[in-house]
Amino acid sequence: MPLPIRPAVLAGADYPFAPVDAPVKLDQNEAPDDFPAALKAIALERLAAMPWHRYPDLNGDALCRAIAAHEGWPASGVVAATGSNVLIALLVQLAALDAHVLTVRPAFALYGLDARLLGASLTEVPLRGDLSLDPDAMLRALDALRRASPATGVVFVPRPHAPAGSLAALDEIERLADAARDWLLVVDEAYVHYAPDDATGLARRHPHVVLLRTMSKAWGLAGLRLGWALASDEVARQLRKLVPPFPVSTVQAACAQVAFEHPEVLRARVAATVRERERVAAALARHPTWTAFPSSANFLLVRTPDAARAHADLLAAGVLVRRQDGLPGLAGCLRVTIGSPAENDAFLAAAGLAGTRG
Ligand code: PMP
Repeated sequence: MPLPIRPAVLAGADYPFAPVDAPVKLDQNEAPDDFPAALKAIALERLAAMPWHRYPDLNGDALCRAIAAHEGWPASGVVAATGSNVLIALLVQLAALDAHVLTVRPAFALYGLDARLLGASLTEVPLRGDLSLDPDAMLRALDALRRASPATGVVFVPRPHAPAGSLAALDEIERLADAARDWLLVVDEAYVHYAPDDATGLARRHPHVVLLRTMSKAWGLAGLRLGWALASDEVARQLRKLVPPFPVSTVQAACAQVAFEHPEVLRARVAATVRERERVAAALARHPTWTAFPSSANFLLVRTPDAARAHADLLAAGVLVRRQDGLPGLAGCLRVTIGSPAENDAFLAAAGLAGTRG
């Protein structure tokens, strides 16, 4: 007997990730340093004093207030969940079931995976050759979809782009927002801390624009699994209906609260990573055959003549990076996370660029 599973799920793909062990792990865009031991100790002490047999707040309300204060956003527009990837699926459910998901190609895999699993139609607009957003092509695609029936859905734009690292101009995103007033426009800001600006002002002006943020990258708290949406009150109110009750555990809330009390940790880490990104990019510019794309994130996309070979050679030297050559337009590409100075040195040495610390 076949199992009663929807054809879209049976045909759907797994999230494309296979864990590999290596001494230098630069494959998941994690922060290089663990959360400071002194702050872990504070969080653990608070956790020990909390009742674990009680449910946390219904919608993570206290945590949402802390997020709101940190982000300068009304708490009524904050929706928290176990990682921003949970929110991607919920946003498809919110506005694209039996409707459209419009995004770019290549892009972070989940937009397409969730669209397919949830039965939304999927339109992916290629980036330009330099891997920047092509706003005119996006507007044309949007225009075509708005003449379809139903005429609505969700646009997902990662900014900074993942996995390219490129940063679309805010006025290009605003053009999209203006053209897509009857759609949701989700700007995925997972890597925004490493970029010179963010879309908060734009989201404030447009009630159909939603920002996604996460503690997994710049905060160095990927193990905590915490992300949130910043949205207008109305979108947040509707999205909350789709988030399961009690979505943020007592553990997540306590640890995140401690993090928000120490924004200096975030600032120092981001500054160090941006500095290292520029150093690694400058060193890679001297590579005879590899080319790094400009990045506003905590990783570099590097085009090599042969991604399989480059990946294997790096791994043989103990450095794990992520192959991206299976993605459209990314032949030969690897993605390398910016790690600690020592990890980055190991990467550069494995790439044949020893002695680049200056
Ligand atoms: N968006 C982008 C662009 C990402 O790269 C990631 C993580 N790889 C996420 C969202 C999901 O982040 P998380 O679920 O850890 O919050």
